[in-house]
Amino acid sequence: MKKTRMHQHNTHRPDENKDYVLYWMQASQRYRHNDALNAAIKLANRLDLPVKVLFVLFGDFKDANARHFHFMLEGLKTLRTALEKNGIDFTVRTGAFTETVSPYLRRAGAFVMDASYLKPPREIKASLAQEATTKGVYAFTVESDLIVPLKEASQKEEHAARTLRPKITGVVERYLTLDATPVVEHHGVADASLLDDSNETIIESLGVDTTITKSPFYEGGEDKAHETLESFLQEGLPFYTESSDPSKHVTSTLSMYLHFGMISPVYVYNRVKKAKTEGNASNEAVDAFLEQLLVRRELAFNYVWHREGYDRFETMTDNWAYETMRAHQDDKRPVVYGKDDYIHFNTHDPYFNAAMKSMVKTGYMHNTMRMYWGKKIIEWSKTFEEAYETILSLNNAYFIDGRDPVSYASVAWLFGKHDHGWTERAVLGKLRYMNGKGLKRKYAIEAYVNQCEKL
Ligand SMILES: Cc1cc2nc3c(=O)[nH]c(=O)nc-3n(C[C@H](O)[C@H](O)[C@H](O)COP(=O)(O)OP(=O)(O)OC[C@H]3O[C@@H](n4cnc5c(N)ncnc54)[C@H](O)[C@@H]3O)c2cc1C
Repeated sequence: MKKTRMHQHNTHRPDENKDYVLYWMQASQRYRHNDALNAAIKLANRLDLPVKVLFVLFGDFKDANARHFHFMLEGLKTLRTALEKNGIDFTVRTGAFTETVSPYLRRAGAFVMDASYLKPPREIKASLAQEATTKGVYAFTVESDLIVPLKEASQKEEHAARTLRPKITGVVERYLTLDATPVVEHHGVADASLLDDSNETIIESLGVDTTITKSPFYEGGEDKAHETLESFLQEGLPFYTESSDPSKHVTSTLSMYLHFGMISPVYVYNRVKKAKTEGNASNEAVDAFLEQLLVRRELAFNYVWHREGYDRFETMTDNWAYETMRAHQDDKRPVVYGKDDYIHFNTHDPYFNAAMKSMVKTGYMHNTMRMYWGKKIIEWSKTFEEAYETILSLNNAYFIDGRDPVSYASVAWLFGKHDHGWTERAVLGKLRYMNGKGLKRKYAIEAYVNQCEKL
């Protein structure tokens, strides 16, 4: 692992007289290509201690509902099998993060975390790092869910993809190494029996919001993530230059697995690059995919890290966008709808209703339709602020990949972030506009509508 993936929180010495090296697994929910896990095992072996992988189920996690928990629990069950098969102690507990992790620090010879970028988990991790420091426990965080560690790509908020691109592509080659998971040399006590119950029972006992249910279309887990990647390499990647057509289904659907850390983005990057050298996909297709995975995805992480107010309407976008919204705040909206109309597919627009059906029923929506969907909600809301709240709440409630840095950056993009001004028009002002005629002209949109009707 490249040293710059690792951030040390203090200079205490790792203590071999304690009971284990503690890895609180939160963001990187996988066995393979997990640099935080690898670093914890290596250190534990060096200290002649077992490694304790701790996972905490917290039912009140911001905006999470049964749909997210089902996907995550499916993953945790396969993860448990992989960890136990490889002799790694896996302990699962329920409760609030800090209160649950904190007691384990007392017996830890070192404390390892994976990295978070959104404010709530970031703050919890900072406070646990502080607590470890106060208690004299050596602690560090490893960034394993970005291809290029955040600050190695850029030290400031980037204006747009075009400003991040040269920086990140200039250093990416340094970060493509993947290590095999080390063999664990010592064993301790573990207890993941909480996962013996059915997912429904676990979800009920955690008091998770069950109004939005499991997706019957997507299953969580590291094995599923790898299967999804392999079938994308065969069936999607060769045609990826046509991926903006929502009727074609040639994108990877990896976003939900990346969100839960069920697959390493470095592994995805390397496998896709290999397809190019093996002649399975054109340069254009591979470059177009890596632009999304590397530049667009990591631009979102840059955004939430550097922009304190990424989650509030008043602070999420740029001045030119606020100016144009102010100038158009009183424009008459062509029609006004609310959340209820959206989730019951009850607008006059068949393309929007189809996209909404995909979101509600499957937990996923194609990127072109996410853009169209969000732009329509702006057009049909009484105010820009109300539109922002509606879009963000639907996004984070229904998408399995919601509640991600990419969610916040993409919703802000609808309001001009990482974009530029366009020809001024009613309601949207200089914000980019999209209409059904454009979808009809460029894509087999009627085929998409038919596909969604069958859901
Ligand atoms: C209004 C709106 C809301 C969105 N909400 C989310 C969200 O909640 N969570 C989320 O992960 N993505 C979101 N996106 C970005 C994008 O639509 C999804 O990442 C993409 O559709 C996921 O499908 P895929 O994995 O098949 O993508 P692929 O085309 O296969 O792309 C590969 C990977 O690149 C990344 N990627 C693709 N498109 C983008 C993009 N435009 N911006 C940043 N990264 C990208 C994703 O990690 C994706 O898995 C949103 C986009 C818009 C316009």
